[in-house]
Amino acid sequence: MSQHWIADRTQLFDSSGIRKVFDLAAKMTDPINLSIGQPDFDVPEPIKSAAKRSIDAGKNGYAPTQGMAPLREKLQGQVDAQYGHADRKLLVTSGTSGALTLLMYAAVNPGDEVILFDPYFVSYEPLVKLVGGRCVIVDTHPNFQIDVNKVREAITPRTKLILFNSPANPTGAVATEQVTRDLAALAAEKNVLLVSDEIYSRFAFDAEFVSPAKYNPATLVIDGFSKTYGMTGWRVGYVHGPSALVDGMTKLQQYTFVCAPQPFQWAGVEALDFEMQPYIDAYRKKRDYVVEQLSRDYELATPGGAFYAYPKAPRGSGSSFVEEAIANQLLVIPGRIFSQHDTHFRLSYAASDATIERGMEVLKKLAKRSS
Ligand code: PMP
Repeated sequence: MSQHWIADRTQLFDSSGIRKVFDLAAKMTDPINLSIGQPDFDVPEPIKSAAKRSIDAGKNGYAPTQGMAPLREKLQGQVDAQYGHADRKLLVTSGTSGALTLLMYAAVNPGDEVILFDPYFVSYEPLVKLVGGRCVIVDTHPNFQIDVNKVREAITPRTKLILFNSPANPTGAVATEQVTRDLAALAAEKNVLLVSDEIYSRFAFDAEFVSPAKYNPATLVIDGFSKTYGMTGWRVGYVHGPSALVDGMTKLQQYTFVCAPQPFQWAGVEALDFEMQPYIDAYRKKRDYVVEQLSRDYELATPGGAFYAYPKAPRGSGSSFVEEAIANQLLVIPGRIFSQHDTHFRLSYAASDATIERGMEVLKKLAKRSS
């Protein structure tokens, strides 16, 4: 094969960092795996049954691009009841990742600037680069709260959108209501598109989740079923926001993803009636335990949501600390995968209590080791 068959854009980013950790995990015999970004609970039975019923009933064909009517209408009804915005249209997508991809193609022209908050979810930077956009990074270290003045300074005439994620991956940070409100107001003032990735919104442990869409009706909200219901492999997400933008995304979905998988959209209808609070409460307890275990030995901003903690590595480099952890059977992810800084590491407590306990023992032991 000839090298020139491969388009230049595939060289704009690499995925070796996170893959290296997963490759290592596959080779280890009994790893303590705190690296995984998905719930450790299985999809609840009634939701599984709905998927199976749909498959058995032959609901296996294409869905309309905009989503199966029962799911789309139910979600649209919830969104309308919550926001009451005159122009807020909903599209069912192939996971949150599908929505993010469509958004980039629909909103970002080559040379446009996209504001990201460091640390950021791994996909954001590659997706911006894929469409020829430029990432403008606003740092949130050390407490991972957004300084809205820094955002103001980062805005230029080329700024197209601000990509906001709370509760956040990888830090678990939840923006305060004040920050959320100020960011929403700033985006409106500067006529910049504010995008809110709310995939972890049900995992907000200390206060009720507040979306910037509450304060800025032009906010585009990206959400999905993956994390809330443990159905990451089923690929159902959705987006809602200004209809012209959502129509643009719908047109692109028609020629790319086509639709989200039909049987799992029917499962989504069922999921919306399922009470997940006990699952969320269990994750809050895991969060409390991890914070309690680590706060003496690690610099750790208490994560208010998602299922991650993002401690500072005790001896400088996050990467070399992760190597030490892996040498002790513990899999965590080096912060430099999500950041310009190589100072922290991400652990996911979406794991059994026994696994988390083992992980905490290793981390406490490693913190006490002098360099
Ligand atoms: N956004 C964030 C912040 C995430 O952490 C993830 C999953 N790790 C996604 C989007 C993608 O989720 P999905 O495509 O499964 O809906």
